[in-house]
Amino acid sequence: MIRGTTRVAAVIGWPVEHSRSPQMFEAAFAEAGLDAVMIPIGVPPESFAQVVGALRAMRAYGACVTVPHKLAAAVLCDELSEAARGVGAVNCLHVVGGYLVGHNTDCHGFTDGLVAAGLPPEGKRCVILGAGGAARAVAYGLRIADAAAIDVIARRPQRVAWTTARPWTTVDLRSSFARADLVIDATTVGLDDADTDALDALPLDALRKDAWVATLVYHRRTVLLERAAALGHSTVDGRGMLLHQGARAFAIWTGALPPIQAMARALDASIAGT
Ligand code: NAP
Repeated sequence: MIRGTTRVAAVIGWPVEHSRSPQMFEAAFAEAGLDAVMIPIGVPPESFAQVVGALRAMRAYGACVTVPHKLAAAVLCDELSEAARGVGAVNCLHVVGGYLVGHNTDCHGFTDGLVAAGLPPEGKRCVILGAGGAARAVAYGLRIADAAAIDVIARRPQRVAWTTARPWTTVDLRSSFARADLVIDATTVGLDDADTDALDALPLDALRKDAWVATLVYHRRTVLLERAAALGHSTVDGRGMLLHQGARAFAIWTGALPPIQAMARALDASIAGT
């Protein structure tokens, strides 16, 4: 029940209808016995700063920030966490008495999800496919978790400013795959069924049998994960990243331990319901 005392958190995106954050946080606040609510705010880029200003003025907890606002969010903050500076993007805004602190919990969310799945990243040789915003957060998270190597493979490597990317060629894919402990699909290819050719052509036969394959897509089982599982590889989907980035945001806002199980159940139920 919303009362005059209810604290507000938001999830801001454009569009925002697909977001699972309201369900996850509704469950988290209820489980923790907190008088708080999360509201979805769909806002185009030109109005994003106004919404953030309003959250700051009303002393909200803060906001989860999603596509396309993660870069703009970083510019609006009074202070950035080390991870937000390292990734160059903010996916979690924290209002501290009118002062705005920007965090990046995507990077830790990915590595927390790997640990929960049974693959601690320390010492692992990783290959990241794609070089967009999520790939950059994943690379940063793997680096601070002491991964042994991180190869980024991109179809337009010359346009990647934040790392030295390898080209998306069969030769490069095969040589990176041959020494990989973990391959992470951080492209947008698996978002729907259309145009999966780029991933269908991946040389999974170059992987060692004990290599893992991950995707950041969380709302559906991708063709790539199905292929990898059929070849006997352990797989990880994007739910763990989504869950754990949210759990980190909960801890930042409330100072309390995140009720992970309740959040995971709400996320799974939300995905199963679509
Ligand atoms: P983005 O910034 O748009 O980057 C997409 C990347 O995919 C780019 O490097 C792009 O290459 C590459 N790509 C697209 N089509 C390709 C193709 N046919 N062949 C090779 N590369 C291709 O997107 P993003 O924000 O990083 O998101 C990437 C994925 O992560 C999405 O599926 C998103 O839903 C997911 N994600 C999940 C979570 C989570 O919590 N689980 C969080 C964030 C993002 P170009 O630059 O050449 O176009």
